[in-house]
Amino acid sequence: MRQKILIINDSSLEGRIMLDLLSCQGYHVNVARNGHEGLSMARSFDPDLIICDLVLPGLSGLELVNQLKEDLSTKKIEIIFASGSNNKEDKIEAFKLGAFDYLLKPLDYDEMLMRLELALRYKRSIDKLKRRETIIRADSLRDFLTGLYNRQYLDQKMTEELARVKRYGNTFSILLLDIDFFKQINDTHGHLIGDKILIHVAGRLQLKVRSIDTVCRFGGEEFCVIAPETDITGASHLAEKLRKILGQEPVAISKELMIPVTASFGIAEYKGVDDTIQSLLERADRALYNAKKKGRNRVEIN
Ligand code: GH3
Ligand code: MG
Ligand code: MG
Repeated sequence: MRQKILIINDSSLEGRIMLDLLSCQGYHVNVARNGHEGLSMARSFDPDLIICDLVLPGLSGLELVNQLKEDLSTKKIEIIFASGSNNKEDKIEAFKLGAFDYLLKPLDYDEMLMRLELALRYKRSIDKLKRRETIIRADSLRDFLTGLYNRQYLDQKMTEELARVKRYGNTFSILLLDIDFFKQINDTHGHLIGDKILIHVAGRLQLKVRSIDTVCRFGGEEFCVIAPETDITGASHLAEKLRKILGQEPVAISKELMIPVTASFGIAEYKGVDDTIQSLLERADRALYNAKKKGRNRVEIN
């Protein structure tokens, strides 16, 4: 994709020369004639780089950059100043505000093109690093095997949900489920088949919850569903639905190998301001323990 450059220059001749020169180099270019126009075009055009006069009618170059750097949507734009002033204070102020470079007028256009390309190359590598960081951060909240959210995300989501219900007085519930006799499945068919079962269960759960519900792998063969705006009655229905879906048909590993899977469920609803992540999980875990004790493949409430 072509990189975008905004020229902010009150001289129509100079602006025109730069526009033609940069367009010929393949950049997507726009020109603003004063500081205020520059500010609004920086927001609407969203350039990668601005080449800006220091002295402008209305808003000065330094004031303009100050505003751009304070705004989240424009702070990442690289800035190069162009000025006839060789004043040291002006230069220091420009760099303090976050300018990438400072060019002296009259401009040497060959030099300008080189410096501009350098700034854009720097911007491209920073953008690439940022994209990678976003992917790594998203991956760190996912369970590697099933692709579901992991325990770390569960903590984050429950903290948010607790804050939300404490503030607005709504409710929410959590479901803990644990696959029955999973060790036997591993022992009989091996760990790789066990892994396939976990992936399959994760898929079935994910498919059957509402989009506002969050399914996480709690650990091993245990999963947790956070169901916002759901009281214990709603949570029981959801758990029954999931229990039936999991037990309905055996998991088809191959044409010859079909493995029946069931799970036990423990559910708990938010009870009031004293509730914490820990207390909710403990209640759901106690209910799950009861479901196991009462024969498995069932839902219990706490
Ligand atoms: P229960 O009905 O009481 O829940 O019995 P269970 O056999 O399911 O429970 P137990 O806690 O005895 O065994 C859980 C097993 O899950 C033991 C462990 O090796 C297995 N497990 C944990 N994580 C994984 C995993 O990522 N992949 C595979 N294949 N097995 C796992
Ligand atoms: Mg377990
Ligand atoms: Mg189990």
